[in-house]
Amino acid sequence: ASKNVGFIGLGNMGGHMASNLIKQGHKLHVFDISKQACDNLKAKGATVYDKTTDLAKNSDYVITMLPNNDIVWKAYNDMTADGVNKNTVFIDSSTIDPNLVRELQKFISEKGARFIDAPVSGGVPGAEQATLTFMVGGTKDEYNTVKPILEGMGKRITYCGSYGMGQAAKLCNNMMLAISMIGTSEAMNLAIRQGLDPNVFAEIINSSTGRCWSSELYNPVPGVTPTAPSNRDYAGGFSTDLITKDLGLAAGVATATNTPIPLGALSHQIYRTLKAHGLGNKDFSVVYEFMKNEANN
Ligand code: NAD
Repeated sequence: ASKNVGFIGLGNMGGHMASNLIKQGHKLHVFDISKQACDNLKAKGATVYDKTTDLAKNSDYVITMLPNNDIVWKAYNDMTADGVNKNTVFIDSSTIDPNLVRELQKFISEKGARFIDAPVSGGVPGAEQATLTFMVGGTKDEYNTVKPILEGMGKRITYCGSYGMGQAAKLCNNMMLAISMIGTSEAMNLAIRQGLDPNVFAEIINSSTGRCWSSELYNPVPGVTPTAPSNRDYAGGFSTDLITKDLGLAAGVATATNTPIPLGALSHQIYRTLKAHGLGNKDFSVVYEFMKNEANN
């Protein structure tokens, strides 16, 4: 059935996700601080708001897809400043701290509405093709309530447990992604520097034990996966800033649970170094270029 869906954060991911909900026949109420991002959705039939309080009151569901903890926290404060529509279910799909999820859940439930975490994986291609995986934290009832909406943007909607468990799963996935992207970049570079053709080597790993998402669908070497950001100077996609943030969140929960993450911690430092070299807004597969240049003698 057609629903009123609020959507805040229409960036690399959110723009496609909101568009897919329009295709599903839902009525979209949107906001982003970027006028360009709003205009894109307006052209597809969404209603653009100046005030998120109005956006939320007109929505059965509100989905937030924002960069980080501070921005998400502020967005929820602004949006609920003059109360909530008690029937609204708030869904945060950004990647944030599981502890902040529990604070937000308390904050929203005290106002009388519901809040759950539903971070995603699948990257920009998954957002575009509506094949994302959603990791949902909340009650079973809340999961059943949001599932039909999330199905308009993804193909796997997984129940992870109580509030924050979606993020708990997401942070572990992204830590692994960071590690495997660096591993793919190292191996591709070493193969190329020995004289192997990158396409030949990629074909080998993708039918061998080295295969992973980064090697197969998002290869960091230009010319190997035609749709990957490596083919457009690492523009768009999943930024180095965002993976660095996610590795910081993983480091936080690892510290809180006394869990060793040696490769996760090293990946965090590698990505932080990329940021320090001005590559924060490039796709995280730019780590390949960084290594290639370092090794270029
Ligand atoms: P992005 O930077 O492309 O988009 C963020 C959007 O939020 C931008 O359009 C920006 O203008 C908007 N924004 C910033 N502050 C705002 C505010 N105060 N109010 C309203 N809008 C505001 O980021 P993205 O790649 O779309 O990622 C969004 C979230 O999803 C992040 O938490 C990220 O970690 C997570 N994520 C990203 C990917 C990916 O592959 N890009 C995959 C899974 C999860």
